[in-house]
Amino acid sequence: MSIPEAARAAFTEAYGEEAAGLWAAPGRVNLIGEHTDYNDGFVLPFALPQRTVAAAGPAPDGKWSVCSTLAPDPVVFGVTRPGEVTGWGAYVAGVVWALTEAGFEVPPARIALASDVPLGSGLSSSAALESAVLTALIDLGGLDVPLERRPAIAQRAENDYVGAPTGILDQSASIRCQEGHALFLDCRSYAIEQIPFDLAGQGLAILVINSNAPHQHVDGEYGARRKSCEAAASALGVPALRDVSVAELAGALEKLGDDVLRRRARHIVTENQRVLDTVALLHEGRVREIGPLLTASHDSMRDDFEITVDQVDTAVQAALTAGAHGARMTGGGFGGCVLALIDADRAESTAAAVADAYAQKGFTAPTSWVATAGPGAARI
Ligand code: ADP
Ligand code: MG
Repeated sequence: MSIPEAARAAFTEAYGEEAAGLWAAPGRVNLIGEHTDYNDGFVLPFALPQRTVAAAGPAPDGKWSVCSTLAPDPVVFGVTRPGEVTGWGAYVAGVVWALTEAGFEVPPARIALASDVPLGSGLSSSAALESAVLTALIDLGGLDVPLERRPAIAQRAENDYVGAPTGILDQSASIRCQEGHALFLDCRSYAIEQIPFDLAGQGLAILVINSNAPHQHVDGEYGARRKSCEAAASALGVPALRDVSVAELAGALEKLGDDVLRRRARHIVTENQRVLDTVALLHEGRVREIGPLLTASHDSMRDDFEITVDQVDTAVQAALTAGAHGARMTGGGFGGCVLALIDADRAESTAAAVADAYAQKGFTAPTSWVATAGPGAARI
């Protein structure tokens, strides 16, 4: 059964009637620009073909109900405040709450979810869920919520209702990406540019490798990185690390007394520049040449930002040894996925090389596939 069919069937099973419609929102990979979003910096994600589908319809009882193929018993709630709905239902209650807080009258609705975005793998199943639900509620209620405002509403659900201190990257990618494009986003102004991302035309491909490494301490470490970045910006007297350029970096590092803060700041400042350099190369159609920037981004995450684990470092190294033009971890870190820029005919051999390296180290086997840039959230 396809994901849309599964969502439709789950709706009928739970609520005994047909859904009024189907809305889909994708997971994403971030090509480059890691942990830069909450530093007011730059990111460059593209949407995955994997997506979360919300089958939805109006609710006669004035409440919101949501179920998932992963949790078939509906979670039912009325008007709530953060903390009142917990567990996975909080992502949905959070969207209702954030939309209400933004001044919109949210239509009571019944929702059933199905997804093929891997959960907890750094491909942003949480933002896919929020964005699918948000888009469904907006359409069902006929709400006038401009596209550029939507990511911040979904982010607020995740930050202030679920309690995960994530930046604007994931929701922006799920809502604003376009098929065949990477999304160049300025996380301060929310200005975007759709960058044509034609890999096949150049004989290239992006291999996504799910490390299947268990996520550990993700929230705590993420929060700690955020705090370090804020401390560094404040010590430097700038609103955010975005305001330090690579040319100013050496002087800035001298001012920071603490070695950990120095390394965290160096990652953010150089990573922002790598995003700009990647965009410039893509504009010129020099896709292959972004490889070294991807690998430099990984080295910076491993050595300066310290958010990688052995499984992702091993995948990057094995992919490079197998001939990848560049490779890096993508997503918040401490596990999750790696992406490798490869010649299109090397997908199988690269995936096999990574799997061999995992077997030698006794790691759980990785899962690899070629990713193309899919569409953003929409009614389907
Ligand atoms: P990621 O966004 O990297 O996949 P997160 O930890 O941010 O990882 O989000 C995963 C959580 O989102 C899950 O633990 C679950 O609570 C919720 N979630 C995502 N997709 C679904 C779904 N289809 N059904 C139920 N819950 C989901
Ligand atoms: Mg998430």
